[in-house]
Amino acid sequence: MTDMGLVIVGAAGRMGRTLIRMVTETEGVTVAGAIEREGSPFVGQDAGVVAGLPALGITITDDPLPVFAKAQGVLDFTTPAATLAFAEIAAQARIVHVIGTTGLSVEDHAAIDAAARHAVIMQSGNMSLGVNLLAQLVRQAARALDADFDIEVLEMHHRHKVDAPSGTALMLGQAAAEGRDINLAENSVRVRDGITGPRERGTIGFASLRGGSVIGDHSVMLAGEGEMITLSHHASDRALFARGAIKAALWAHGRKPGRYSMADVLGFTD
Ligand code: NAP
Repeated sequence: MTDMGLVIVGAAGRMGRTLIRMVTETEGVTVAGAIEREGSPFVGQDAGVVAGLPALGITITDDPLPVFAKAQGVLDFTTPAATLAFAEIAAQARIVHVIGTTGLSVEDHAAIDAAARHAVIMQSGNMSLGVNLLAQLVRQAARALDADFDIEVLEMHHRHKVDAPSGTALMLGQAAAEGRDINLAENSVRVRDGITGPRERGTIGFASLRGGSVIGDHSVMLAGEGEMITLSHHASDRALFARGAIKAALWAHGRKPGRYSMADVLGFTD
């Protein structure tokens, strides 16, 4: 069988470089192209060299259309605006679009849903096996314990991260909301500052810390009267997200159009 050709968009980013390295190391996939935004200093450079490898013979370009046309999938860890543009092009080219970008708004998700009517889209705020398992555990715990247990999601990331709470924190909050059978948007407390008054029963709180080079730490606390359960995950290497994204692309290859999640890939859907 021939390899699945994957385009890496945002190729010079932290995840982009990791993806290039991991794709070259993984059987069954090959780097089919590398894209950066118009005006990026990396356009024209070899994707392998930018990722710290020997030259791959793949030049980073700012013109996705002809590159997508020759590939079978795209790995996308960029920005919400870039991701929406890539979703359209991937749908036109009828290739798998794996979206790891976080900070997507409700409108962005609606646009992705629309693209998924014609395209195979795999979107997840976190591509790791461990975090997806954690989400399952959080769903179970939230279902088992009633609103006497306050749920708080705490995350910490490196100083360069631009969105908060993290996509993973929101994913974990969503899992807790599903366990409680409540709507997350209507029951979440995203920020606390000043005289906030006492905690409202049944809400799901979020707190974000930023600093240093932390790749991603998440904890979900279920705090009751006199006892607390903490479920947590610590990421120590970006390669785990890249491995998950490649696994997702291979899983999605040849599926019918639709929107899928990492839980589908890992067989965690219940
Ligand atoms: P990053 O280092 O800033 O990388 C993003 C890259 O995308 C940059 O090279 C950026 O270029 C490029 N880019 C921006 N707009 C573009 C466009 N229109 N066309 C082509 N390239 C474009 O960020 P990162 O740490 O790799 O993270 C990227 C995203 O992935 C974030 O949303 C992050 O939260 C998310 N993430 C998700 C997971 C997961 O498992 N789902 C894991 C890790 C990270 P410029 O710098 O020149 O703008």
